[in-house]
Amino acid sequence: MAIRRILIANRGEIALRIHRAAHEMGIETVAVHSTADADAMHVRLADHAVCIGPPAARDSYLNVAAIISAAEIAGADAIHPGYGFLSENARFAEIVEAHGITFIGPKPEHIRTMGDKVTAKQTAGALGLPLVPGSDGAVSDPAEAAEIAARIGYPVIIKAASGGGGRGMKVCERAEDLASLMAQAGSEAKAAFGDDTVYIEKYLGNPRHIEFQVFGDGAGQAIHLGERDCSLQRRHQKVLEEAPSPVITPEERARMGGIVAKAMADMGYRGAGTIEFLWEAGEFYFIEMNTRLQVEHPVTEAITGIDLVREQIRVAEGRPLSVRQEDVAFSGHAIECRINAEDPWTFAPSPGLVSSYHAAGGMHVRVDSGLYAGYRIPPYYDSMIAKLIVYGRTREGCIMRLRRALAEMVIEGVKTSIPLHQKLLTEKDILEGEYSIKWLEEWLSTSNAHDDRG
Ligand code: ADP
Repeated sequence: MAIRRILIANRGEIALRIHRAAHEMGIETVAVHSTADADAMHVRLADHAVCIGPPAARDSYLNVAAIISAAEIAGADAIHPGYGFLSENARFAEIVEAHGITFIGPKPEHIRTMGDKVTAKQTAGALGLPLVPGSDGAVSDPAEAAEIAARIGYPVIIKAASGGGGRGMKVCERAEDLASLMAQAGSEAKAAFGDDTVYIEKYLGNPRHIEFQVFGDGAGQAIHLGERDCSLQRRHQKVLEEAPSPVITPEERARMGGIVAKAMADMGYRGAGTIEFLWEAGEFYFIEMNTRLQVEHPVTEAITGIDLVREQIRVAEGRPLSVRQEDVAFSGHAIECRINAEDPWTFAPSPGLVSSYHAAGGMHVRVDSGLYAGYRIPPYYDSMIAKLIVYGRTREGCIMRLRRALAEMVIEGVKTSIPLHQKLLTEKDILEGEYSIKWLEEWLSTSNAHDDRG
């Protein structure tokens, strides 16, 4: 059924991103916003806007009743949740559908299965994805845990089944610490997620984070759109992402992509999804699946030419994917820098008035951002204020263009992470593509990173 009006249950750059795809398809948009976001760009551009509550996200962007009422009032026939907020809340997806509104996202049961890491891992294993060796499901008995850890070998990592954002994880180096670390992980998980279920897996020493973009039509057809390398992380938060990964060959991409696409087809998966792996010494190990659009999706769009939000909307309308696997061609290289309103070296948040703003431009340069001169960045939400995505025919050309584009960006009045990105793009390891998930934190703790602080 053709969608006519989409309510975008999100804010910031991703709300704009969805608005743009909708308008290019001739679909109207409804923005929702908190009182703190009344002047936001996503509100200005949308065809209709509804205020859904006070600044705190739990009272506005996470307020299911207010969002459903806004959809009813504005006559929206579909809801796109973006990322974060309610995007991976299976109950929300069910409520949307129960109101006769199309949910632009996966089937609720798939959101639920993949949202619990224990069931996600079991499902991934059953679908033939390679797993990190570990416990087969949850473990609660320390003696059983000790047996598993001895079998897979130390170090091991204890993880919360309901974990997210890197919380509820403990690395254990020695058998004598296992019982106490398990208890700690369990109580932290209970406090953060209301669930103390934990499981154990082998702790990989120096892996890369490589994820595959998948897309299903919900009726048994699925494709992959290659991988993204998101190894540059601080506190498990991605800082810069690139596609393709510097370490994956076309043969490897086709092989692993084929495996994930088949898994999604077998599952009957609908919409966009990301299968995250750790990669070490040529081997992939599944860690989790995200049942939504990712922040870093534009690097995939840049190298495939496929608009992922447009595909999401098509699939939600019950139409087939616009491309078959054999039509997907990968060309060139793309890198995304996440630009945050924060001190580039201490990472302290820096909200406030943006006194002047000028976005980079030119060939193959994309800036996704809701910023404008005179905009006041509210202190209540995520600090990411812009994404700079640059494409080049080669990785080297992409990096040269990215440096040029970063130098053009002007964001005054607040501190931003632009200087961090500029420094990173002079580092030999980054230029050579030789970095693991440990690299950034190690580099930040060395004098090398400190030199330019001012
Ligand atoms: P979350 O949902 O909390 O982000 P993930 O399972 O995605 O948790 O893991 C987050 C990060 O933790 C990974 O990107 C990686 O840096 C690290 N990590 C997770 N599992 C392992 C493991 N088995 N070995 C080494 N590092 C790991």
